[in-house]
Amino acid sequence: MHPGRVSWKATPQSEGAQTFTAHSELMRLVLDRVTAMAGENVTKTILHQIGREIGWTAFHHSRSQTAPPTLTTGLDEALRLHGFGKLVDLHEIDHRTNVTYTCTIETKGSNCDLIRGIVSRWLESHLQEKALNIEGPCSSQGQHICVFRITFRK
Ligand SMILES: [Zn+2]
Repeated sequence: MHPGRVSWKATPQSEGAQTFTAHSELMRLVLDRVTAMAGENVTKTILHQIGREIGWTAFHHSRSQTAPPTLTTGLDEALRLHGFGKLVDLHEIDHRTNVTYTCTIETKGSNCDLIRGIVSRWLESHLQEKALNIEGPCSSQGQHICVFRITFRK
C-alpha cells in the first residue's frame, strides 16, 4: 500500500472529506488535461472560480441555519464542510481608506487556488461588498498552511 494512504486511514475523515477526495481525483485528471491544452493559468482560474462558487453556496447555506455563524465560524465551517482545511487565524488590518483581512488556513493538500476562491467569496458574501484586491499567490511558507490577504474599501 502507498505510504500516504496509511496516515489517511489513521485519521478518519468526515463523509464530506471522503467525497471530496474521490471528486478531486477525477477533477485532477480533468484539470491535468486542461493544463496540457490551455496552460496552467487557465487551470488556476478554473480552480479559483470553483472555489468562489463553493464559498457562495456555503454562505447561503449558513444563512438558512437558525443561528447564522459569525464571519470566522462561518468561514471555518465552509472550509471544513468538504475537507478543504480549517481556519487558523483571521485578522483585520485597518488602513485609512480600506481594510485588509489576512486569513491563515491549515490545509491537507495543495488547493491554494480553490481555497483562495472559497475565502474571497465567503468574505464578499458576508461583508456584502466586492473585494478591492485578492492577493494572487498564496504567501504560504509551509506545505500545509495557506495565507491570503483580501482587501475591501472601508
Ligand atoms: Zn496556499
